[in-house]
Amino acid sequence: MRARPPTYSKFRDAQAELEKNGAAIFRDAEGVESLIIRYPYSINYIHSYAEDSPFFLALAEGKLKGSRCTKKGCAFVFATPRSHCMVCGSPTEWVDLPNEGRVHSWTTCHFGSEAFLKETPYNLAMVEFDGVGSLLLVRLKDAVEKDLFVGMPVVARYDPKPKYSITDVWFVPKK
Ligand SMILES: [Zn+2]
Repeated sequence: MRARPPTYSKFRDAQAELEKNGAAIFRDAEGVESLIIRYPYSINYIHSYAEDSPFFLALAEGKLKGSRCTKKGCAFVFATPRSHCMVCGSPTEWVDLPNEGRVHSWTTCHFGSEAFLKETPYNLAMVEFDGVGSLLLVRLKDAVEKDLFVGMPVVARYDPKPKYSITDVWFVPKK
C-alpha cells in the first residue's frame, strides 16, 4: 500500500484530537502550526433535482437510469441524467442502464470532502456500459488500488436506505 501524503495523515491526527478534545494543533508540510477548534454549524438546504428526479428515484429502487436522444439517426445514450442531447440538442427519454459495466478509468482518493473523509482512501471510477456512449462517475468499493485495472468487470450495488443522492449507488468488482 502506498504511503499517505503527509498533510493527509496529519489532518487525520487533527481529526482524532478534535473528536476527543474539540481542539488540536495542525502542523502543515512547512512546519507551520495552527490552533484549530471545533465549530459546529448546520443548515437545511432544500434542493430540487427537477428533471433529473427520475434518476434519483430509480436509484432508491435499485435501478440505474440513463438518457437516450429521441432524434432518429442520433439516439445517443448517456449514462447520466440529461434532458437534452449533448450531441444534437434534441430532447431525451429515460432508459434502463445495465446493472453491470467495466472500469474505463479510476482514481484512488487519499483525501475527500467532509462526507467522504472517513472512507479515505476510496476509489472513484468512470464506468462504461455496453450500448452507452458516456461514462458514469461513481465510487468503486471492495477493491484496493493495486487490484484495479482498465476493463475490470463491475456490478452496481445500492444503498438499502436511500438518501436520494449519487452515493445511493456504487460499484464492486464482479465475482
Ligand atoms: Zn442526439
